[in-house]
Amino acid sequence: MTERTFSIIKPDATRRNLTGAINAVIEAAGLRIVAQRRVKLTDAQAKTFYEVHAERPFYGELVGQMTAEPVVVQVLEGDNAMAKYREVMGATNPKDAAEGTIRKLFALSIGENSVHGSDSLENAAIEIAQFFKAEDIVG
Ligand code: ATP
Ligand code: MG
Repeated sequence: MTERTFSIIKPDATRRNLTGAINAVIEAAGLRIVAQRRVKLTDAQAKTFYEVHAERPFYGELVGQMTAEPVVVQVLEGDNAMAKYREVMGATNPKDAAEGTIRKLFALSIGENSVHGSDSLENAAIEIAQFFKAEDIVG
């Protein structure tokens, strides 16, 4: 089934000029980038986005990293897009990520792991709505 999922190319990656390289992996996997914008997240935006992790010990560090430099927010579309992108990203910790995945190729650490991808279709819809108007997504 054709789905949409939400992606962020994180500051560790934009800082190292990896936006194009990551997009190449996304597109090679058959996912279409149907919306994309470079943005510097505010503290409030990052806190809202990662609210589910508010009680985790790394929350402050995570919000700090996500607001330090620009990110690229994206909507990806394709067959089974949510699960497919999780596969293309690889495990949260790059040490555990499979060969050829974005995190294996580019991530620096479990915190600076280059990309975010929605973990359910429900969250994908919520996250897409946080950053994109319907008319800005062109499939
Ligand atoms: P994301 O939600 O960013 O796609 P994920 O779903 O693979 O990643 P989560 O468990 O949702 O992983 O964690 C969210 C983010 O918090 C991770 O991507 C990572 O940047 C950071 N993070 C997770 N665990 C740790 C940790 N133990 N130490 C530092 N940062 C962490
Ligand atoms: Mg997650």
